[in-house]
Amino acid sequence: MSASGSGLRLYNTLTRTKDVFHPIDPSCVRMYVCGPTVYDYAHIGNARPVIVFDLLFRLLRHAYGAAHVVYVRNITDVDDKINARAAERGISIRDLTDETLARFHADIDALGVLRPTFEPRATDYIARNDGVTDMVGLIRRLIANGHAYEAEGHVLFHVPSMPDYGALSRRSLDDMVAGARVEVAPYKRDPMDFVLWKPSKPAEPGWDSPWGRGRPGWHIECSAMSGALLGDEFDIHGGGIDLVFPHHENEIAQSRCAHGTASMAHVWMHNGFLMVEGEKMSKSLGNFITIHEVLKDWPGDVIRLNMLKTHYRQPIDWTVKGLEETTGILARWRRAAGGADGAAALHPAVFGALADDLNMPRAIAEMHRLEGAEMAAGLAAFGFSATAPAGAEAAAPAGVEAAFIEARIAERQAAKKARDFAGADRIRDELAALGIVLKDTREGTTWEPA
Ligand code: AMP
Ligand code: ZN
Repeated sequence: MSASGSGLRLYNTLTRTKDVFHPIDPSCVRMYVCGPTVYDYAHIGNARPVIVFDLLFRLLRHAYGAAHVVYVRNITDVDDKINARAAERGISIRDLTDETLARFHADIDALGVLRPTFEPRATDYIARNDGVTDMVGLIRRLIANGHAYEAEGHVLFHVPSMPDYGALSRRSLDDMVAGARVEVAPYKRDPMDFVLWKPSKPAEPGWDSPWGRGRPGWHIECSAMSGALLGDEFDIHGGGIDLVFPHHENEIAQSRCAHGTASMAHVWMHNGFLMVEGEKMSKSLGNFITIHEVLKDWPGDVIRLNMLKTHYRQPIDWTVKGLEETTGILARWRRAAGGADGAAALHPAVFGALADDLNMPRAIAEMHRLEGAEMAAGLAAFGFSATAPAGAEAAAPAGVEAAFIEARIAERQAAKKARDFAGADRIRDELAALGIVLKDTREGTTWEPA
């Protein structure tokens, strides 16, 4: 790395600008990403932040050295949905979350995601009794500072106690009260006040605290785990765009007011949604497919590249057609790599595109020009092996690539018949971009790799 830095520029939700990235300490670059709530299989939308920030983790390791990047992605293993599911199944929340976490790991391993440096579980940070890095300690400090209060077994963060609350989402308190579905509770001093701690009924999971037996609110988990593992202020905080408000806004309020700091993280990064037919994929809308299901039909590396093909801040429309095209691209890249390993230096044009706020569409355009060792190094930077992993053929639906090409050839034939020659040429060009050359003969159209 040169004295002028890594050349990395990242879009910061806090400033709404793409800024040059200057780590607080280049010998220890610190990133936190909000991880999954583990009560059931994760859906393919949940895989987006995992894959996007895995790409950034790899890029940071490339720019600063693997030993100089600390990445924390937490596991939320206490939550009302978890409690309800465990009660339904008659098992402890620990048993439920152990099982779900193992499935999550199997899913994201198949997507080529590196393990973060630390993967803390919320329940391990509720009451560590050091009074500093645990949730109970943070809440005590917020009460002592006048930012939180106890009421009827609950502890609430008092939002009007923080003058610049709302800076990340750029909402005024009035907008928030009008727009948010805030829970009205008689014990709240202000409708925007949010829960740091709540009482547990005897049958519910609970931990002893100065406010009685209870459990933490969701937001305080991330303030405690990031503070414990990365310190009061760190470099990058990430998650899906839906987390900006209220989750990240509340994390900032808790951490800054507890530690008396000007910021929690310097750069806030948010991925866009994965969409299905114009709507965000989500458990509550019921329009989701699990990673586990998608992996039955498509190899993990195809899913990974399909996710990375779109710029991380743009919405992705998740389609079979997209996955088929991605299958062709990855196969072509691997042919171009010609069995070279990924040890060569990353091509500056590919690094430059990635360093420009993870501009994957540009990085992919640059990749199309590479071959041999350079192509293999590009594949490695994106988290792919230069050759198809063993068993990938068996995992892929039989002949998907060929079936896709044959289908496109049939469409082209139909277009020609309808005298839509521009449409026919477009299909030929699209296939050419995937490295497939069509040959028109008297017997029909054949194809071969370029
Ligand atoms: P959750 O378990 O709902 O808290 O979500 C875990 C992570 O997945 C968060 O960072 C969310 O922002 C993200 N996420 C959830 N749904 C989607 C989606 N459809 N597209 C992209 N990211 C999502
Ligand atoms: Zn969080």
